[in-house]
Amino acid sequence: MHTPEAVWREAERALREAEHILAITHVAPDGDAVGSLLGFTHALRSLGKHVVPTCQDVPHARFGFLAGLNDIRQSAEGEFDLVVALDASDRTRLGAVFSPERHAHLPMLVIDHHITNLQFGTLNIVEPHVSSTAELVLKLIKQMGLPLTPQIANALLTGVITDTQAFRTTNTTPASLAAAMELMQHGGNLQEVTRQALLLRPFEHLRLLGAGLVNTKLEGRVAYATIPQKLRKELGVHEERGDGGLAGTLMTAQEVDVAAVFVELVSGDVEVSLRGQPGFDVSQLALELGGGGHPAAAGCTLPGPLKDAVNHVLPRLRQLVREA
Ligand code: AMP
Ligand code: MN
Ligand code: MN
Repeated sequence: MHTPEAVWREAERALREAEHILAITHVAPDGDAVGSLLGFTHALRSLGKHVVPTCQDVPHARFGFLAGLNDIRQSAEGEFDLVVALDASDRTRLGAVFSPERHAHLPMLVIDHHITNLQFGTLNIVEPHVSSTAELVLKLIKQMGLPLTPQIANALLTGVITDTQAFRTTNTTPASLAAAMELMQHGGNLQEVTRQALLLRPFEHLRLLGAGLVNTKLEGRVAYATIPQKLRKELGVHEERGDGGLAGTLMTAQEVDVAAVFVELVSGDVEVSLRGQPGFDVSQLALELGGGGHPAAAGCTLPGPLKDAVNHVLPRLRQLVREA
């Protein structure tokens, strides 16, 4: 899949014609979601556009070093003439910010890099071989000749660094390194971004990670763990979702080919994080389950209870390992 140059030019035209832009990134935003949203917002504002950056969920405080983080709103008030969806593979990932009644009639530019993207916009810049949505925003900024300020550079560098886990994942390409170099040359602080957005975390994440590791089961080459709400309460964890980095940590075991972490939400639904070693593709399973992602890292949300979600996913993971 490759986005034709004509679509890039149409996207530029749509952005230049728009005056009020609603920018939405995906629920439970990660570094690429926040970084591409803020980078895009700063850049389009330099053109005099009114841009409202939104996300259903409040971004994590670890992104507090990024300029404009507190401008991100959890709802979209006002009238718009263009919606821009960032780092989201389908409309449900936009969460409650996107209102079918108020926004479905508007043109929508989708900028994303998930292989499972459903091309849900009226214009779709979707490049699955690109490591982060932030790199696509950088390309758009350069195409449009907009100034690349240190604020924008740090926001976009956050996307590159978090989605490549500091250039360690299989989606890292020479282009990711070139993008990072360019962002550093324009004031991006690689060490600061890596430390703030990737390495530092609240102590409670470590507690969750520790308890999750103790709970982890290894069956053949499939590792899986559950994080019930009860466990969060026992550990005194304030955050209602997230796995403290458990899914990624399971992939550091030599004995593991694929991993799944099941997080019970307050609503009773279960957030599933899937991971695969190089050569394994968990993205299609996530898509079949109503979610999406990348070959090496994907996810979905399933109805509870936890046990049902586990029983639904585990056989399919075993099959995935058998077929590899
Ligand atoms: P996570 O396991 O939450 O770190 O997510 C890994 C990857 O899967 C990221 O690229 C997410 O954007 C994607 N992903 C996670 N959950 C979902 C979902 N419910 N729907 C679509 N994509 C998802
Ligand atoms: Mn993301
Ligand atoms: Mn991303």
